[in-house]
Amino acid sequence: MEFEHTIEEAPSGRAKCRGCGLAIPKGSLRLGERLPNPFSDATPLTLWFHLECAAFKRPETFLQTVAESGEQIEDVNRLTQIATFGADHKRVPRINGAQRAPSGRAKCRQCKETIGKDEWRISLVYFEDGRFNPSGYVHPACSTEYFGTRDILTSIRKFGVDLSENDVTEIDSLLDG
Ligand SMILES: [Zn+2]
Ligand SMILES: [Zn+2]
Repeated sequence: MEFEHTIEEAPSGRAKCRGCGLAIPKGSLRLGERLPNPFSDATPLTLWFHLECAAFKRPETFLQTVAESGEQIEDVNRLTQIATFGADHKRVPRINGAQRAPSGRAKCRQCKETIGKDEWRISLVYFEDGRFNPSGYVHPACSTEYFGTRDILTSIRKFGVDLSENDVTEIDSLLDG
């Protein structure tokens, strides 16, 4: 069964965004992605997102829902640009920030080499069965090849909430190309 996604004002501040894990403030617009519910045929599962997080992490859902929704969305051009970019670069929505590797155990998804302790790595998540699962890392130097674009700092900054501007500049300098 196909259910309609929705954009609506959050009636309370209780729902957490699936994209970033933070609460969605009461009264702000949120996107609800409806998925089949394994426990009920009649009621879908609804995943709530900040609009911006949906644009970054569920770009196709965002574009489709905005096109169908009558809601006035502040910032709609910027958000649509983010989502269109993500829809065109299928791996970019997987970006979930960046950090220095706490150990030297993880391997890069692109070059398969180990990411050394304290080296920068870009974190990936993979959306499956209604959730985002951790899905490994790539070296900044390998990321242009992996993502098919060098233009990934906006996503890294958005989901790398602990990163300083210096960190972002450093990551930028490590990107290839
Ligand atoms: Zn969010
Ligand atoms: Zn690599």
